[in-house]
Amino acid sequence: MPTNRTPDSGHLWSVALPQLTKRVGHATLDSFLRNTIALDFDGHTFRLGVPTQFAKDWLEQRHADDICDCLSEAADVPVALQMEVTSSMATPAAPAPPAPPVSPPPQPAVSVSARSEAATHELFGSTPLNPRYTFGSFVVADCNRFAHAAALQVAKSPGRSYSPLFIHSKVGLGKTHLMQAIGHYVKQDNPSANVVYLSAESFVNQVITAIREGHVEQFRRKHRYGDVWLVDDLQFIASIEGPASEEEFFHTFNFLSETNKQVVLASDAPPRHLKIMNDRLRSRLEMGIVADLRAPDVETRVAILEKKAEAEGLDIPREFLEYVATKIESNIRVLEGALLKICAYYSLYEMPLTLSMVEEIISDYSTAASDKKLTLEDILEHVAVTFQAEPSEITGPKRHKEIVWPRQVAIYLAREMTDHSLSSIGKFFGGRDHSTVLHAYNKVSDLLIEDERVLWSINDLKAALRGE
Ligand code: ADP
Ligand code: MG
Repeated sequence: MPTNRTPDSGHLWSVALPQLTKRVGHATLDSFLRNTIALDFDGHTFRLGVPTQFAKDWLEQRHADDICDCLSEAADVPVALQMEVTSSMATPAAPAPPAPPVSPPPQPAVSVSARSEAATHELFGSTPLNPRYTFGSFVVADCNRFAHAAALQVAKSPGRSYSPLFIHSKVGLGKTHLMQAIGHYVKQDNPSANVVYLSAESFVNQVITAIREGHVEQFRRKHRYGDVWLVDDLQFIASIEGPASEEEFFHTFNFLSETNKQVVLASDAPPRHLKIMNDRLRSRLEMGIVADLRAPDVETRVAILEKKAEAEGLDIPREFLEYVATKIESNIRVLEGALLKICAYYSLYEMPLTLSMVEEIISDYSTAASDKKLTLEDILEHVAVTFQAEPSEITGPKRHKEIVWPRQVAIYLAREMTDHSLSSIGKFFGGRDHSTVLHAYNKVSDLLIEDERVLWSINDLKAALRGE
């Protein structure tokens, strides 16, 4: 309902920004929106301060409608947008763009009416799906093959295959993408299906509000209406507000399961490591399919970059994409952020790209610290010292526990940190075959998620090998 009071611009921006991030993705948020500032809102036009001309051009060219939509939704009235370069703000990592005019000419305001579907979304407590997160734009590789297959199966026959599907991984590895791909697929197959997508955080907030305002019954009705219920970032269900949200979640979950509706959940940890108090809920979560997503190897990172560049309509030489893929190994979101920045330069300024420009543009993102190529010998030696074993034992035939674990760790690190193929790693580690290498790699990858001590020890080994 429209109100007479004009919301404060800062407040409006803080409400609109999370919704906007859901549409444009975290990469755009990190690269272009984080350093923006709300300057003014007069009830009609919102003035947004952006740090550089480059960010302004990019946001105007690609996201003006999204920004207007989210502001309109937050303000409950149609909002026009005006962007201004505010030079005193944080400077970007990338090379300096052409200097902005001292006092920018007035911009034509872009106006978009509030979303017509807003009411429907509110009805189901759902968040709009990001149109980019489809199965078509998801690169399938060893690190995600199982989760992808399970997601596709669920999308093809929701409620009839397995429920819940539980996807877990570290941040930025594709959980949200896969979940939303299910939502798109179901909607396309059956436009009248009620697909509800929301984060557990939003669920918790809705529970709290419903309890406070005495609307619990209404809240239950709307959530139990979904045919496909996609709940993201489930780790937030363990709310500091007490067990009420967990209970409410459990009831909704049970209701939907019993009525053969499809539930898909994503979280940063597998069910047994979720900090929830309700053991019945935990065991129900474990009864479905639990699929993890692991960090992609370098070839997959290149393939993802190629797909993203193609989606942006850009023909970036493979050599540059390979460079980015070897430099950035942390997560796909960061990888995408770097590519976005390169794309922006490429398309806005039409500069011929050189490798040194690419290097400079992504210098802030680089996580692979040194250019020195890590060898299999380096890894073997370091692992041997760490585990107080002889290198010859690690590559040797013995199969007792004390030596198998360091061997598996060394193989894991070799696969993660070098470009050697499975068979050449196997050959180096005592003439082992390709499937033994894969088994060792998978073993460590699984434990990384299950056991925090393993995570830390691998983390330390990697840092030491990178010379950090
Ligand atoms: P998470 O939810 O696990 O934190 P996201 O689903 O938000 O991760 O993924 C982060 C970014 O990486 C998104 O932009 C997503 O499109 C991209 N991404 C992740 N996995 C893939 C993949 N296999 N193919 C293409 N893009 C991917
Ligand atoms: Mg996510």
